[in-house]
Amino acid sequence: MIPSVLPTYSRAPLSFVKGEGSWLIEADGRRFLDLGAGIAVNALGHANPALIDALTKQAGALWHTSNLYQIPQQQALADKLVEHTFADTVFFTNSGTEACELAVKMARKYFYDKGQPERVEIITFSGSFHGRSSAGIAAAGSEKMTKGFGPLLPGFVHLEFGDHDAIAPAITDKTAAIMVEPVQGEGGIRPLPDACLKGLRDLCDEHGILMILDEVQCGMGRTGRLFAHEWAGVSPDIMMVAKGIGGGFPLGAVLATEDAASGMTAGTHGSTYGGNPLGCAVGGAVVDIITAKGFLEEVNRKAGLLRQKLEGLIAAHPDVFESVRGAGLMLGLKCKASNADIVTAGYAHGVITVPAADNVVRLLPPLTITDEEIAEAVSRLDAAARSLTAS
Ligand SMILES: *Cc1c(COP(=O)(O)O)cnc(C)c1O
Repeated sequence: MIPSVLPTYSRAPLSFVKGEGSWLIEADGRRFLDLGAGIAVNALGHANPALIDALTKQAGALWHTSNLYQIPQQQALADKLVEHTFADTVFFTNSGTEACELAVKMARKYFYDKGQPERVEIITFSGSFHGRSSAGIAAAGSEKMTKGFGPLLPGFVHLEFGDHDAIAPAITDKTAAIMVEPVQGEGGIRPLPDACLKGLRDLCDEHGILMILDEVQCGMGRTGRLFAHEWAGVSPDIMMVAKGIGGGFPLGAVLATEDAASGMTAGTHGSTYGGNPLGCAVGGAVVDIITAKGFLEEVNRKAGLLRQKLEGLIAAHPDVFESVRGAGLMLGLKCKASNADIVTAGYAHGVITVPAADNVVRLLPPLTITDEEIAEAVSRLDAAARSLTAS
């Protein structure tokens, strides 16, 4: 008999009733150090007092009106994002995959309005992840996500990640945009080197096409800058954001330059819940904290500490781990043992990690994790690795 919850996930036998900072707690009181943060969502930890305050204040005042009216919390959050990024304008969604939908629509509308309606194609890369909507799975293109769900939304050209020589020839008079994650998340924490991101920007400029960055996972301070592309000193035309921006409340956004967004006039796009007062009140508090003086410096310092300890862990368990990669507090342990076995062993030792493609274990702790918690987390990973080699 089919479970009452549609069984599209194979879930771990863990069930949490409470969160405190970097910790998740089960009903029997068992505590787990959370290096998954709900897959880079709980960027400021669980039960963050500032976020609880923002949410409960708003909940007591007004939950929902409609985008038919002015929404001051939405306006305030958009202003903050425009102030701190390349963007001139923002549309709010409830998730990353909805941000992907709008990014695709925006790029196509841009060229339609410029009198080039044949420019509809978007170039994407293997190992990418852009969500589970019809556009999202067509964009990523992997058989794992698309098999059985055809016909797929047309207009995506899939290239091999890392195959630089393939990119320029793939740009034709049908190309509208290149869409890429500066650091692939689901694909196994694969960072795009700064030089590659710069090279992509140059190609886009040369051919007059748009650069769409998916910073749903790597954005919002995760890599030690507010957005990962800042490390390369380039900026996109359109950017997808979600996950960390809501700190656990469902919130996403598409950020764009005035030019890239020029086709999106009244009536061309919409959302019932997107940009609602609750989500935007929380998002405003998240942006305030991450952009506060010194916050990202601390993320970078702690990232260095975690990385150094992980190098020690790898050296101590050469049969289990191979290397560490990533940026900031978005790190991947490339494994020799099975990543799934390591994640499961972590559960038994009170530490939560997340598997990714390419036999990688992902570490995406709250950006607020403390030095002591980093030391404790790595010691728990060490115990988990020892239990694997002992058996
Ligand atoms: C999670 C993720 C998405 C999809 O976000 P949802 O909120 O699950 O729809 C899109 N792109 C990237 C890079 C992601 O990590």
